[in-house]
This record gives sequence, structure tokens and C-alpha cells, in this order.
Amino acid sequence: MGETVEKIRQEALIKVQQAETIEELRGLSVRYLGRKGALTRVLRQLQDLPVDERRAVGQLANRAKRDIVLAMDERREEVQRPLENASVLESTWPGSARGLGHLHPVTQQIRIAEDIFCSMGFEVVTGPELESPKYNFDLLNIPKDHPARDEWDTFYIEGELLLRTHTSPVQLRAMEKRKPPVRLIVPGRVFRHEATDPGHDTMFYHLEGLVIDRGVSAANLMATLKDFLRAVFQRSVEIRFRPSFFPFVEPGYEVDMQCQLCGGTGCSVCKQTGWVELLGAGTVHPTVLRNMGVDPREYSGFAFGIGMDRLMMLRHGVNDIRLLYSGDLRFLEQF
Ligand SMILES: [Zn+2]
Repeated sequence: MGETVEKIRQEALIKVQQAETIEELRGLSVRYLGRKGALTRVLRQLQDLPVDERRAVGQLANRAKRDIVLAMDERREEVQRPLENASVLESTWPGSARGLGHLHPVTQQIRIAEDIFCSMGFEVVTGPELESPKYNFDLLNIPKDHPARDEWDTFYIEGELLLRTHTSPVQLRAMEKRKPPVRLIVPGRVFRHEATDPGHDTMFYHLEGLVIDRGVSAANLMATLKDFLRAVFQRSVEIRFRPSFFPFVEPGYEVDMQCQLCGGTGCSVCKQTGWVELLGAGTVHPTVLRNMGVDPREYSGFAFGIGMDRLMMLRHGVNDIRLLYSGDLRFLEQF
């Protein structure tokens, strides 16, 4: 009798392990533990046995019943959690969400600027970040011994190469294949060898513009910049020109924008002046025009360079350029 109980127990445990559905488990429960189940039948026969044997078989039967119930409970949980069971794939089970990123705020700013200039008929050109002194300085009217080179100190690479300090070299390269009239913008990374602080970094994004045509003047430059800034800030923006020196333009200007935070009344961002420095610009120097293969007696042009980081910071009220390249998601996720 004891052997029969053990046989039923082992057979039941194997069947339970093989069950794949709740229904199968329910059927096994009836088959072994139900009122007419195999184990129940054995227990009914106990009364016919001698007392000693009855106790021994009774204990075996109860142990078998307990083992089978436990095995069924375990198997039921496994069957109900299909994804945790390697042999079953539930394709409709919801997946775990993956975080989606977005464009860097400076990239967003560059795209906005490109869209605005393209709507004015400008062409976007790009070029190498590693340049020769010829394109970065010489052809831009900054000879080797000129003190202006100190202002654009940069990183020199082995041999005769340097990291460009502006995207003007790309304009020179572009003019090797073009004839006026031209309207170009050149966005890209530029480099300066200088100490980092909240307003300066050794790398930032520039967007330079060049227009060459007959009769182009500083008035066209002012109108273009005002239109551009109105489109960026979505409102009319006052600008002012201050005389300044850049070797590649004559005359040259620093262009200030009315402080967008205080509206020109003075605050800490504009150092109580009501104006913030925004960009450098000017009408193209005749020597540079000649270096571009353009006759300055026939054509004139204007050029400007806007820091995209600075523009983005002014738009969003960011006060430290180093945040932009920190890779800190708490900062980047705000844009
Ligand atoms: Zn202000």
C-alpha cells in the first residue's frame, strides 16, 4: 500500500511539472486529490488496514498530498507569469519605456538661425575645423606679425595646422568656387586658447554671414541683423552699433542688443547699461575681397559673426556657458 502511495506521489509531481496551463493543473487536482482521485481512493482504503500499517500509510498519504498541493501552487504561479518563464513569450506584454532624448539647446539654436537666414535667401556652407594659418589668418588680412593674432590665440597642431578661431576660412574656401552675388552663412565650432569662466569657453559655436553684391552697405547689414533678431526673439529688438576693429572689415562694429531681461532699464545681466554685447560685424575689407577674387571697385559686402551659445543663453536666461557642455541631464532636459 505504501508503495502505491509513493508511486501516485511521484507520478503526480511529474505531471504537475509538465502542466502548461491553469486548466491542466485543475484537471490534475481532480485526478489526484478530488473526491474520486487516486490519492483519495487510497485514503478510503485505510480503514481496512491493521492499525500499525494504517498509521504508516496514513502519514505517507498525507505527506504525498501536501507535496502535490505545494507543487501545484508553485506551478500555478509560474504558468500565470509567462514573461518570467523562459519557455513562454507573451508578445502582448507591455515593454519597459525607454527615455527619448532631444537636440542639444545650442543645436536647436543653430537650426533656428539657419531657418531664418535661409528664408532670407542665404546658403548654408560648412568646412574643416582644422585649418591652415593661410585661411584662418593670412587671407583675412591678419599677417604673421600682426598683433591682432594675439586676440585669436588658438591651439596649434603639429605641423602647420591650427584649430580655427572663426568660421571665416570657410567663406574664403566657398568663394574659390563662387562669384558674386553671394549670401552665405557658415555655422560651426570654433576654438580659442583662453581661460574658461561663465562667459567664455575654449570651444563654442559661431555662425558667420557673408553678403557680397553691388551697392551693399552697412545699412543692409543693420536691416539684416534686426530682421534676424526679431525672428529669433519673436519681437522687435533694438540694436546699436559701436565702432570696433577687426582686420577683415572696414569699418568694423560691435553690435549690442537691448537687454531682453530688463527691456533696457538696466539689470545685473546687462551690468546696468541696458545693452548686451552680441556680435561683431562690418563691411568687408577691400583686401579680403581681393583675396576672394572679387574686385572691390565693383562689389562690396558685409560680414558678421554671432556666437550661437551666447544667443541661446540670452534667449533662455542661462548665465554660465560651461553648463552647455557639462553633459548634465538636469540642465539639458529643461530645453
Ligand atoms: Zn538688463
